[in-house]
Amino acid sequence: MKITGRSSSITNSFINSIIPIIVPTNEQVKEALDILGMDHDSFQCAYCGDTASEWDHLRPLVQNKKPTGYISEIHNLVPACGKCNQSKGNKPWHIWIISPAKLSPKSRGVLDINQRIEKLHKYESWLEPTKIDFESVVGKEKWEQHWANWESVQNTMREAQILAAEINRTIAKAHAKL
Ligand SMILES: [Zn+2]
Repeated sequence: MKITGRSSSITNSFINSIIPIIVPTNEQVKEALDILGMDHDSFQCAYCGDTASEWDHLRPLVQNKKPTGYISEIHNLVPACGKCNQSKGNKPWHIWIISPAKLSPKSRGVLDINQRIEKLHKYESWLEPTKIDFESVVGKEKWEQHWANWESVQNTMREAQILAAEINRTIAKAHAKL
């Protein structure tokens, strides 16, 4: 195990920690499920139809390790299963869904994929998504400080990993002599 192996989850936490979450009303959740053609008792993955376990951001919050400006709000969220969520990552949904990416609906042979794509397009045009220029709202100074903090954490992790590897070797050698 490596300390630096946690690098991308640290990056995600620097992004997700600054993004507001707009909690939807029950009415909005119902409307969302209606547009996706799901009944309100079963929670289905919008991409493949399996049982959903989470909400996935239709438009990614992160791209190239930076926030896109989209936020967590109901019309940017669809129910998804773990397989789809993982496979999609930060890719645009309409490209990913018919791509041969591992575990994508296309590569898993989902039969009603075209109907699902149609519903997702309808969902996208439901409400205008919020897209915020975070830097101009926050101000240059605080914005740059946030990313400087990120870089400092990354550098500390790299240095810590070098020392950890050295400690690991020392302990392994001591063990070999026992
Ligand atoms: Zn799915």
